[in-house]
Amino acid sequence: MSTLLTVENLHVSYQRAITALTGVSLSVDSGQIVAILGANGAGKTTTLRAISGFIGLDNARVTQGSIRFDGTELARRPPYQITRQGIALVPERDKVFPNLSVHENLEVVSSRSDGAERARLQDLVYTHFPRLGALKKREAGLLSGGERQMLALGSAIVCAPRLMLIDELSLGLAPVIVEEIVEHLKSIRTDLGLTILLVEQSAAVAFRLAERAFVMEHGGVVLSGSSAELESNDAVRNAYLGTG
Ligand code: ATP
Repeated sequence: MSTLLTVENLHVSYQRAITALTGVSLSVDSGQIVAILGANGAGKTTTLRAISGFIGLDNARVTQGSIRFDGTELARRPPYQITRQGIALVPERDKVFPNLSVHENLEVVSSRSDGAERARLQDLVYTHFPRLGALKKREAGLLSGGERQMLALGSAIVCAPRLMLIDELSLGLAPVIVEEIVEHLKSIRTDLGLTILLVEQSAAVAFRLAERAFVMEHGGVVLSGSSAELESNDAVRNAYLGTG
């Protein structure tokens, strides 16, 4: 398996010299699902937004380190250039256009691909997320939290990304909906050969979905391993699974 993404010694500072990341290193192999775990404020969101280039919008910047994607250096590049390389971010907030219908949401983000490819990817989203198929004409602002998350994932999938970054997959969603989303994501991954890096506050969800995980604390990675290894690690069980 080849390495698709390598983050090395990444430092990020917000305005007024607030340092959020102090040397993050992680890697993601092609075709893998990888999770980032960690307490509030550990730097998980900042890491995803640095990879996708969106930290510029948060008045933050990379001060040191590198982000290599399939051999190309992406640190400090603007988001539109990073998107063109095939990286799609599903953000924690403002995931959909609330005044557009479900179908219009998919149309606006996939408008760059030609008609046949666009239709194929939209069909794939509706097949894997049948709820969205039934809600094509519904305004996105009226969707439930779970449906909105499915639309956000669908909006990333129609861009045919080589790497999908998902910030807080399960936050605020009912366990039964999370279960549904996890199963849909697994089958889409198999169909499309997607690579996914996700931030997940529930270690149980992360370990069910991901092959590997990185644990962050205070702006750095403190632990990494396969989901099976981390799930049986006492420190991880105590901190994140409540089953020490
Ligand atoms: P959470 O789970 O609470 O979202 P996180 O692990 O995603 O936490 P980040 O949101 O990346 O952590 O925050 C990392 C650090 O950067 C924190 O100390 C936070 O206060 C700081 N930070 C985040 N966003 C900003 C901002 N816009 N301006 C200044 N500091 C920020």
